Parts: sequence; structure tokens; C-alpha cells
Amino acid sequence: MKDIKSLAFEELKMEMECLGEKAFRAEQIFRWMHQKMVRSFEEMTNLSQGLRERLSQEYALTSLEMVRVQESALDGTRKYLFELEDGRLVESVWMKYRHGNSLCISSQVGCRMGCAFCASTIDGLERSLTASEMLEQVYAVTLLTGERISNVVVMGIGEPLDNYGNLLKFIALLTDEKGLHISQRNITVSTCGLVREMRMLADEKLQITLALSLHAASDEKRRKLMPVARRYSIAELIEACAYYFERTGRRITFEYALVKGENDAQEDARQLASLVKGLNCHVNLIPVNPVSERNFVQPDTENITAFKNKLEKNGINVTIRREMGRDIDGACGQLRRRQKAYTRR
Ligand code: SAH
Repeated sequence: MKDIKSLAFEELKMEMECLGEKAFRAEQIFRWMHQKMVRSFEEMTNLSQGLRERLSQEYALTSLEMVRVQESALDGTRKYLFELEDGRLVESVWMKYRHGNSLCISSQVGCRMGCAFCASTIDGLERSLTASEMLEQVYAVTLLTGERISNVVVMGIGEPLDNYGNLLKFIALLTDEKGLHISQRNITVSTCGLVREMRMLADEKLQITLALSLHAASDEKRRKLMPVARRYSIAELIEACAYYFERTGRRITFEYALVKGENDAQEDARQLASLVKGLNCHVNLIPVNPVSERNFVQPDTENITAFKNKLEKNGINVTIRREMGRDIDGACGQLRRRQKAYTRR
């Protein structure tokens, strides 16, 4: 069956034409799916019973099943574990900020990038998510919380640029004025640094924020943490970032997970500063999240502050990521891992 929720509006219009339906039906159905976020064709009450039946015979209306939610007593952050229709699991994290609610979504089930500190990649990639499965994380959490989501960050499980086509469809649907109409400026896509796709994305000239997971300031150190660094050098990455800014005018975010004794020395900060100095950018320092299967430790607070100060002295825009949901934590991908282990038992 066709995945109707992943269709762009124009595609849906063509589908309705093929069914011999009037063009305005496409807009009605689109709004039911992407604005009212209904979970069945039956609820599309301004369509004839005949059309509703026909739709349910020909199309699948993707929906996710929430299997668990954990809520932080400290800041209200909620981690949702969702089951896809084939039984696979993904996580989404909902965070409340003064400027609005933000949802961090997954783009794949598992990941094949192999970063040393990351829990999501331990069992490799199972499959990529469809556009509708990415959207459904936003819709399901909107319905569950009853609150509007204003920011979406594609920073959960998976490498979004390794699922490029579906990611672009997802962004188009999420920002459609006949849907939730989330502004492109409120969407962030985080990548481990797939240079070819970063450049393709730049050429799309979207107004989304691109975040690059840098995590090291030399190729040698980066290769120890991230296998993708064997494919692309830091010089190539920085060039791709400059190109992204040139094409879109959007400031790049560099993510840098601080790992005690690995990349947190003053010399690392100095190298990082000189790398990103010429770019219109912002550096986000993330004290590494301990993962039970991995042996990485956060630097001491003084070290983190010293690292930040060093960057600032060099004129770099920098923030330390505020930790949300500390009490329900476990790094990204850990909830899914725990559930899988539980199910296996
Ligand atoms: N694949 C994409 C997006 C998902 S990971 C990417 O690599 O950017 C989201 C962010 O969390 C990345 O910056 C990733 O490097 C970081 N991350 C993964 N595991 C982490 C951990 N244990 N501690 C801190 N950051 C981590």
C-alpha cells in the first residue's frame, strides 16, 4: 500500500486525479493528515463514506505506537519510545524552553556511522525512516502533550544525511502552510559530516540550521572518535560549511562533545578556534554523555569552563549545552537499547 502521509501536496493531487476525484479533495485530505493529525481515514468526516473506504484500501496511514514515556522531574523533559509499524523502535525527546517546545526526532532505526561515543550506532543500521515516520514523531508528541512544537531538531537516532531524500520530503511537509507550518528557521539538522550531502543541502537553499558534529580539531583525533573522518578531512568539512553559509546565509553550528583526556585540552581549544575562526558560526560544547557500553568520561567543570573561555578569547561564539532531563538520561539511543534488551529477555 502507498504511504499517503509521505506524499507532497502536488503528488497527492495527482493521486486524487488518478482516482477520478476532484482536486480539492487533495487539500482536504492533506489538512486532515498534516494539520488535524487524524489517525484514520474514518475521521476525515468531510469525505464521502465511499472515498474513505477507497482510501483505506489503497493507502497506508502511518502511525506510531507509544510504548514508553519518561518524564524528568527536574525540567519536564520527556523521552518517548515509539514502535513503528514493523515493530522497530525509535526515540524522540521533547524539551520545554522559554522560547517554546522543541522536539528532537530520530531519522533512522540505528545508525551505520559508528561514532565511538554514541549508543545509537552499537548494533548498526536497521533501516531508514520514511518521511511519514519522521513526521509522526512530531504529530504524536503534539497530540500527547497537547502543546504546539515550535522547534524540531533532527538529532536523535540516525544520520539524517544518510537518509537524504526522505529528510527533504519531511522538511517540505513539516513546513507546508497546509500542515503544521513550522518555520524552516526553527528546524535544525545535525550531521556527522557527509560532505557530498552537505553541499547538496546547501544548494537547496533552505533556511534550516545545519549543525556539524565536529568533536575534534585534528583529523588524527577525529578519526579515533568518528569513522566518517576517514572519508572526509576536516579541511573538506570546513569548506562545505563555508559553502553552506555562502548559499543559504545561515550560520553553522559546530557541536563538540567534550571527552575527558581526549579532546578537552587547551591546545584542542586553540586548534578548534583557528579552524572555525573565519566562519560565521557558533560552537556548542556538550559534556559527553556517559554510555554504559562505552568508556567516555566528562571533563571536570573547571576544564569545561577553561575550554569555553579559550574559545571566547579567540572571538568564537560559544555555549555549553544545558543538560536537559538529567535524571531520565542515558545518552541518545539508550532508551531504545534498554527496551530491546528487555524484549530479548
Ligand atoms: N548523526 C547525526 C545526528 C544524531 S547524533 C550527527 O552525528 O550529528 C546527535 C548529536 O549527539 C551528535 O553531535 C552526536 O555526535 C552527539 N552524541 C552522540 N552520542 C553522544 C554522547 N554519548 N555524548 C554527547 N554527545 C553525543
